[in-house]
Amino acid sequence: MRVDIISIFPEYFAPLDVSLMGKARDRGILDIRLHQLRDWARDIHKTVDDTPYGGGPGMVMKPEIWGEAIDAVVAQGRPEGDVSVPPRMIVPTPSGRPFTQEVALEYAREPWLLFTPARYEGIDSRVMAEYGSRLRVDEVSIGDYVLAGGEAAVLVIVEAVGRLLPGVLGNACSVSDDSFAPGAMANLLEGPVYTKPPVWRGREVPEILLSGHHGKIARWRRDEAFRRTLEKRPELLARLDSGTLDAHDRRVL
Ligand code: SAM
Repeated sequence: MRVDIISIFPEYFAPLDVSLMGKARDRGILDIRLHQLRDWARDIHKTVDDTPYGGGPGMVMKPEIWGEAIDAVVAQGRPEGDVSVPPRMIVPTPSGRPFTQEVALEYAREPWLLFTPARYEGIDSRVMAEYGSRLRVDEVSIGDYVLAGGEAAVLVIVEAVGRLLPGVLGNACSVSDDSFAPGAMANLLEGPVYTKPPVWRGREVPEILLSGHHGKIARWRRDEAFRRTLEKRPELLARLDSGTLDAHDRRVL
């Protein structure tokens, strides 16, 4: 997957060199390209923002600079040079579509993502209107709070999407067992996990996990997922698809 990120703080993305994402880049699974937005600024100070029309506090990012930056990146085409397939443009904003595991899976199927993280009060709205008529543009929120800038949101989205790409995780099963994974785990939280030693500070690992009985362990894990979801996020249970529930699940609920 190719990922382009245009930002006034490209250095913010250093963590993408670390751990799973770093390995995915080394192996060529993730091709991340960082661009300094100010390279497209026209004045000597490399200004990218201006005062908002209508007044009010804060500054707004200028449309012509974003426009030129996005045009230049899109014109580079996909790695294979197939410019007929434009990127999916993802604009982080608190007013966007909530980012969920389902959206992460949707993005993981894309060959090319372009992120436009903003600062200040955000990007002039005409930029999203302009590219909305040419590219697929998603305004996306990572939660109901306000960050200082979109870079942290991009890190979150790239990591959630990147770990879903084939070959990134060693054990593919762990993706389908994860909290929120579409299918059996949709709208469920994963239950507790344990490792050795079997007793730590007097606290024992649940006996069933030491039994070696795979069927019973799977059942226990599922029951724990229901229990934890009921305790921590009861509102998720209302969204469970009854088609994914078996008779035992229904009894636990
Ligand atoms: N005044 C804006 C509002 O209330 O919607 C917030 C601007 S915020 C200070 C600057 C930038 O941070 C946003 O344009 C966006 O790129 C990013 N941002 C802040 N919170 C975010 C969130 N919850 N999800 C995604 N991006 C966010």
